[in-house]
Amino acid sequence: MNNVFYDKLIFELSRHGRQGYSLPKNSFPDDFRFSLPKHLLRSQAPELPEVDEPTVVRHYTNMSNNNVGVDTGFYPLGSCTMKYNPKINELMSENPTFVNLHPLQCEETVQGALKLYYELQQMLAEIAGMSEFTLNPYAGAHGELTGLMIMRQFHLSRNDLKRVKVIVPDSAHGTNPASAAVAGMQVVVVKSRPDGTVDVDDLRPLLDDTVAGMMMTNPNTLGIFEHNISQIAQLVHEAGGLMYYDGANLNPLLGKCRPGDLGFDIMHINLHKTFSTPHGGGGPGSGPVGVTDGLEQFLPMPRVLRDSEANPEKGEYEFYLGGGDIPIGAISSFLGNFGVAIRAYAYILSLGRENIKHVGPLATLNANYVKEQLKDYYELPLEGVCKHEFVFDGLKDKSTGVTTLDVAKRLLDYGFHAPTIYFPLLFHEAMMIEPTENESRETLDAFIDAMKKIAIEAKENPELVKSAPHNTPVRRLDDTKAALDQIVTYRMLTKQD
Ligand SMILES: *Cc1c(COP(=O)(O)O)cnc(C)c1O
Repeated sequence: MNNVFYDKLIFELSRHGRQGYSLPKNSFPDDFRFSLPKHLLRSQAPELPEVDEPTVVRHYTNMSNNNVGVDTGFYPLGSCTMKYNPKINELMSENPTFVNLHPLQCEETVQGALKLYYELQQMLAEIAGMSEFTLNPYAGAHGELTGLMIMRQFHLSRNDLKRVKVIVPDSAHGTNPASAAVAGMQVVVVKSRPDGTVDVDDLRPLLDDTVAGMMMTNPNTLGIFEHNISQIAQLVHEAGGLMYYDGANLNPLLGKCRPGDLGFDIMHINLHKTFSTPHGGGGPGSGPVGVTDGLEQFLPMPRVLRDSEANPEKGEYEFYLGGGDIPIGAISSFLGNFGVAIRAYAYILSLGRENIKHVGPLATLNANYVKEQLKDYYELPLEGVCKHEFVFDGLKDKSTGVTTLDVAKRLLDYGFHAPTIYFPLLFHEAMMIEPTENESRETLDAFIDAMKKIAIEAKENPELVKSAPHNTPVRRLDDTKAALDQIVTYRMLTKQD
């Protein structure tokens, strides 16, 4: 940021000699300092900001007001399923009987927590049509890696050593090929047809006895349901491969169909997407992995298992930690992110068996509503009914020179978080919109209104859109520098006397 005014007068609040606290008097004897090793002693006082209490409180409160999240507004970030995180999830996860557990406690003292894990594993298995789940992986991508390690271990356990290839559609999320590479497999790309779905004719010649499996998400990253999925699964299975489901797009399927029934063998679920746990600014996520019948023994350790014959009255306990016969090892410390599991469990129970069936259809309805209202203003490369999300290829009228980035920035002026932009890579001006099922008709209409206004502005006053945002605390930032060149600790900018 080169804005001197912002740096010095607003951000730097420190004034020499200001104080907002008082520490107790140092009770160590004077010579204590000298008994410490020299290299551990400071030669100069640390450079800490010197501020009074109200200044500190206002600083953090103002910063938090600049933060955008699902609690402040509509967040149609395609592929990310930024659904509202109900507060009851938070309330449950803050329960002191959960918060104060230690991961090294004996099993008999944490039966309640293990029961929650076990039941969540069971619920996910039922929702997804899988046989068993592990909650250990920390994110979707981590689940992909875990799933691919299971796939590899499955082939190795049968002494089928040639299977090193993983087929990935060209519309796939970048984590798919990345996870396959990290798992030590070779990535083979299969093309999409003009309608956005996997080209079965392009797939056939790729299938031989070196194929370990295929990764797909359904609906795909364009929001289109892969209607050939049963045929694709059959072809991959006939070639001896396994089907991996990237569950990032599970939301629209809730209540309608299950990946297990579509022919998938291994999958992950992003609890921070479909099951309403926070995405958390790099904070904890969770990517539980499920497998079909016959693959349970490859799940990572430890697993939460249940002894249905245990008699608590005899001091026997029901839930315990175990491992499979041929596990891939441990892929996380302990059992993953417990706090996230509590939130997902609370979400599933608070919706209940009946209401959870409305999630997918409502997410689909909302996406189609927004798409139909905007398709005269924005380029819709793939016509027809979408699932939970859809992609525009920029403004319909390209003559103005206004880009997808400009539209995204201008949306900030209207108080909306931008959609995902320039992904998927199949279109130059991709703009991926996912409203989720939570949003009211009024919110969707307000977003549609803003998007239409921007399309009109782009024609009448393109400079206004190209120079946006105008109403935000900062203007266009250097995204790359912001990601690579972070300063996360306090640095005194100027010395003052
Ligand atoms: C979000 C996403 C992932 C990766 O999940 P993370 O939890 O962010 O690691 C993978 N595939 C698709 C399609 C996604 O949208």
